Amino acid sequence: MKTGICPKCSAREVYAVTSSDSIPARSIRPATLSQFVCASCGFVERYVQDAELLPKIKQAAQKISAENVLNLEDPIR
Ligand SMILES: [Zn+2]
Repeated sequence: MKTGICPKCSAREVYAVTSSDSIPARSIRPATLSQFVCASCGFVERYVQDAELLPKIKQAAQKISAENVLNLEDPIR
C-alpha cells in the first residue's frame, strides 16, 4: 500500500490520508494514524504515524498470539 499499489485489487489508485482516529492508551499520548485508501476498491490500510510510539504501545498493550486472541476483551490497558 505504501508503494502506491493496492494489495487487494492491484490498482495504482492509492491516496494517503491522515486519520482523525487515534489509538488510545492510558500510559502514552494518543497515537495518530496515517491511512492509505484505495480509490478503486475502497480498501484501507492504517499505520501509527509516529514510529517512536511503537515501543510504548508494546508496553501498554496486550500482545496478540494464537493462544490469547480469542480471550481478548480490552487489548489496550
Ligand atoms: Zn484496491
